[in-house]
Amino acid sequence: MNRTLYNKLIFEYSREGRVGAALPAAKDGARVLSDAIPGHLMRDSDPGLPRVDEPTVVRHYTNMSTNNFGVDSGFYPLGSCTMKYNPKINEALASSPSVAALHPAQPVCTVQGALRLYRTLEKALAEIGGMAEFTLNPYAGAQGELTGLMVIRAYHAERGDAARTRVIVPDSAHGTNPASAAVAGLEVVEVRSRADGRVDVDDLRAKLDDTIAAVMLTNPNTAGMFESEIPAIAEAVHAAGALLYYDGANLNPMLGVARPGDMGFDVMHINLHKTFSTPHGGGGPGAGPVGVRAGLEKYLPNPRVTESADGTLSVTTDSDDALGRISLWLGNYTVLRRALAYILTMGAEGLSEVGPLATLAANYVMASLSDVYELPIPGPCKHEFVFDGLKDKSSGVTTLNVAKRLLDYGFHAPTIYFPLLFHESLMIEPTETESRDTLDAFISVMRKIASEAASEPEMLKQAPHHTPMAHPDETEAAMHPRLTYSELKD
Ligand SMILES: *Cc1c(COP(=O)(O)O)cnc(C)c1O
Repeated sequence: MNRTLYNKLIFEYSREGRVGAALPAAKDGARVLSDAIPGHLMRDSDPGLPRVDEPTVVRHYTNMSTNNFGVDSGFYPLGSCTMKYNPKINEALASSPSVAALHPAQPVCTVQGALRLYRTLEKALAEIGGMAEFTLNPYAGAQGELTGLMVIRAYHAERGDAARTRVIVPDSAHGTNPASAAVAGLEVVEVRSRADGRVDVDDLRAKLDDTIAAVMLTNPNTAGMFESEIPAIAEAVHAAGALLYYDGANLNPMLGVARPGDMGFDVMHINLHKTFSTPHGGGGPGAGPVGVRAGLEKYLPNPRVTESADGTLSVTTDSDDALGRISLWLGNYTVLRRALAYILTMGAEGLSEVGPLATLAANYVMASLSDVYELPIPGPCKHEFVFDGLKDKSSGVTTLNVAKRLLDYGFHAPTIYFPLLFHESLMIEPTETESRDTLDAFISVMRKIASEAASEPEMLKQAPHHTPMAHPDETEAAMHPRLTYSELKD
């Protein structure tokens, strides 16, 4: 495909007099359709649409659809954000008309199946997380964190413990942790990581007092390390009267291996779009269900699905104990449906293979590259790990250059410059769904880039060379997107 030929803006193909449609000839000099459309609705000036032929339109949009890199176009080893293969059967189930045509205001007697799915998934997640009860209402991980922290606030408020206004978050945490705490009206207290990438328990202990509402932890943490001192941490946190929050955005390494509830966590969220198959990125779609241990169920938000003795399901919207409502209705239903399909097709046995396989893949890639990339925290790792850029930094080639060059070779970049523990973070999560061939191809390209850094550093610094776009100003694009053609001409 000649990418440059069909990569222009659709308006740039416009030629005066060119048409892409053939309408029937007008009768008696009347305007076509003028009988069907009332006069006041007819426009009297040209709409200014591009004048293009049909083949050009089709090629333009087909080409555009391939400009983005997706998990269906290639290996996507994004650390922390788990981009794994999403079985296509789940897509078919999520887009089936029996789901797409549902309306939240439908009488509950007509949506018993949908509510059954909601309850079944709630129970499955409670089993997987070791929690008493889940709500599936939050639309994203970040919103799950906010919901979980609001549950924690409600718990302290009911006990009259009003002084607990601060949350402890490790310096390696995902950026949404401190952001959610701030949105929940809580002050963030940072706890240090040790050199081995784990939470500094002494630092944590020193910061625990009766102003702390909760401690948020990710385990395995964002450096791919298992927090081995969880029992001691849980004990200290509870002794100080605070609650322990589990960021389960990436549950891959834990599935069927260990449960946050058993480790002493009180509240958790899970990102269904990372662990339970929904293609995500670019802001959606997602779901961030929140689970709580026994005793905290009543604070979960409205609406809730409840079951009567005869098995009839209904929707409760008016529980006064609930922290309120955090979503329009019962969450992002098509994501919930994909997640349940994933859980049921995998089964308990299949789910327990996810963690070990993801861990094996990560350790394989790590061990195959750690002679040329800097490994600041020695392995073994869990499902992901972090390099601190190239081992040989004398060429001035950065993590950004490596990431951009990977695109030339048809691989998506890993997560870069996160976690903030290192200057040149390159965070790799291969996931359990990639073949040995794909991992080997990735390893060989990463090694090739390391040797290019030594032989042709200037070429690397200009990478990528084969993508439709090379160096967009991402901040400008997000802050001031130009969405119309006339603006682009300025
Ligand atoms: C992705 C992620 C989040 C946030 O989830 P969103 O759905 O993007 O809001 C929180 N914590 C961790 C560890 C994550 O990887």
